[in-house]
Amino acid sequence: MIQIESLRFQYPSGDFHLGIADFKVASGEKVAVIGPSGSGKTTMLNLIAGILIPETGDVTVDGIHVNALSDAKRRDFRITNVGFVFQDFELLDYLSVLDNILHPYRITGALRLTDEIRSRAIALAEGLGLGDKLNRNITQLSQGEKQRAAICRALMARPKVILADEATGNLDPRNKGHILDALFESVEAHGASLVAVTHDHDLLPRFDRVIDFQDFRAEVGA
Ligand code: ADP
Ligand code: MG
Repeated sequence: MIQIESLRFQYPSGDFHLGIADFKVASGEKVAVIGPSGSGKTTMLNLIAGILIPETGDVTVDGIHVNALSDAKRRDFRITNVGFVFQDFELLDYLSVLDNILHPYRITGALRLTDEIRSRAIALAEGLGLGDKLNRNITQLSQGEKQRAAICRALMARPKVILADEATGNLDPRNKGHILDALFESVEAHGASLVAVTHDHDLLPRFDRVIDFQDFRAEVGA
């Protein structure tokens, strides 16, 4: 479902290089990525999502060559197929919680905002304990509430790929469990592939596979 082959990437500035020889995540598979800060975990998620483009090599998601798409197609592809929970949430402060969750539906013709979608957004938010916060502005939420709003937005379109960048980072143990439950439910219900960067070692036994990014990169000679 996610496949990276012979990838090399470098930022235009700085000397960071990333090489990934071969990385596959099957449909329905839940992979945790651990590793030191600065090792390139977020960079890899951005490459899978088509936010960054490799210098050489290929990123394939659900049979689609992400790095071969035009900018506009890649953006539509991402909004429709990739649920990304960003490390710093990237919620829009001037919108309510509900409008943030529905935002992907307003920025691409590839998704249609219907009554059913609105009901789904409300149910998802209620499931993550945000039922009474739907009309609040993002600036009025706690860190944990922002995190849950970002997760609702990522799961709304039932994405084929779920990328979570330290999505349980700011939460207490019970809420960490709830967040993982929500991500895993979506994986199981829709056969998604999950790649979750995490520092929570106590959560690792719940994943199908754990990748230590430092070793992983060393293996491919990056
Ligand atoms: P991690 O998520 O594992 O902490 P990142 O993928 O964020 O690591 O970063 C990997 C390396 O790339 C770091 O050395 C970081 O400073 C560098 N880096 C990240 N973003 C950029 C950028 N836009 N331009 C140049 N270097 C960057
Ligand atoms: Mg990171």
